[in-house]
Amino acid sequence: MDLTHIRENIPQATWQHVWAFRRLFQYVEYKAAEHGVEAAQVPPNHTSQRCSTCGWTHEDNRDSEHFECLKCGYQNHADYNAAKNIGFRYLRRRQNAADGGAPVDVRLNRGTLNVSGEYVPPYLC
Ligand SMILES: [Zn+2]
Repeated sequence: MDLTHIRENIPQATWQHVWAFRRLFQYVEYKAAEHGVEAAQVPPNHTSQRCSTCGWTHEDNRDSEHFECLKCGYQNHADYNAAKNIGFRYLRRRQNAADGGAPVDVRLNRGTLNVSGEYVPPYLC
């Protein structure tokens, strides 16, 4: 790929977005480390269309801020469902990591999510 003129070819606003996201991630990474939490980035594709309960992925599962799985009927706020999918994607990636995938859970607003995709409510944690 020839990147010679990439700076001229990409609009200024796009570079500002790239810069802003990089800055945001650095800030989150820094604040998370203060609390002993690791920050990581995962590909976000389809995380808002995937059911965090059964894994069924379809664009009609999501209607604006409302998520309702057309297969299993699971309902929640679309952002919360997507956040669970992002957390699950991180756990799956860690499972295959070079260190053998030390067991970790992802903490949610309410409860935790483990690598099997199982959600544990806060009263059982
Ligand atoms: Zn489902």
